[in-house]
Amino acid sequence: MKSIAAALLGLIAFSASAEERVLNLYSARHYQTDEALYANFTRQTGIAINRIEAKEDELLERIRNEGAASPADIFITVDAARLAKADELGLFAPVKSRLLEQRIPAHLRSADWFAFSTRARVIIYNKDAVKAADVQSYQDLAKPALKGQVCTRSGAHPYNLSLMASIIAHQGEAKAEEWARGVVANFARQPKGGDTDQIKAVAAGECGAAISNSYYLVRLLRSEKPEDKKAMEKVGIVWPDQKGHGAHINVSGGGMLKTAPHKEAAVKFLEYLASDEAQTYFANGNNEWPAVPTVKVANPALESLGQFKADTLPIATLAKNAALAQKIYDRAGWK
Ligand code: FE
Repeated sequence: MKSIAAALLGLIAFSASAEERVLNLYSARHYQTDEALYANFTRQTGIAINRIEAKEDELLERIRNEGAASPADIFITVDAARLAKADELGLFAPVKSRLLEQRIPAHLRSADWFAFSTRARVIIYNKDAVKAADVQSYQDLAKPALKGQVCTRSGAHPYNLSLMASIIAHQGEAKAEEWARGVVANFARQPKGGDTDQIKAVAAGECGAAISNSYYLVRLLRSEKPEDKKAMEKVGIVWPDQKGHGAHINVSGGGMLKTAPHKEAAVKFLEYLASDEAQTYFANGNNEWPAVPTVKVANPALESLGQFKADTLPIATLAKNAALAQKIYDRAGWK
């Protein structure tokens, strides 16, 4: 009897401490490889992950509404502009980790958040309608030669805000606005749809050129659907600005929340995401490149895009210019 009571006590003590071995993750990612990504963390650390998945902006809203009582430990999202928004709202806590500083290049982190994968914003063109030589840079999209040929998604979308933010950083506000006006003057249609819609419109000949994040192209390249294969035969891909600053790079990443109830587990998780194993899952899940430069991912479709020069502008700079980027698009009429 005595031994059963002791055993029970032991059990209670164990479950109480086990309750602490959790991490609450708010994630805007939902890829097949994520299951393995999280299972590995739990196997390595004994820390269970409670995951809440929703759209980026919904998660941000939720964290704000929950305030100090939020159970969220980690927020993971895509795009520098969204990371910046979370940062501006004061949601992230600074994380000091030698491991993260060693693994994640300086231009891919701030004091408050870390990028774990990168994507490029590339130019695509219809091979029958446009010459590759005419779309070698983002600037080319604003030249009169492409009148009535350019398709794009909304200027309010974070991907385009971050691209504009990089142009502001490199060329200043006035030149950036001139660029936006030039692109608007070249619109084949009013901005609509996502990046995949632009790729398909280029393939269909509705537009001569467009911009897209690299992983949407890889997704179509990996697609088994005959219509996707056919579409990709029509489309040429250009790494922009190879003679200048290099292709604009964006990230997915995350950070620890200021109100995180499990701070130790949260830092462990961020460090785990920078490990070789996690980097492979994280990048491959969405056909992106690992943020840790020594990690190599076997993704033939991604590799088929080839090598390129990437802009090394600090992602934190993009984040800072996001608000001005929106103002410039508004002034230029890029809806
Ligand atoms: Fe996307």
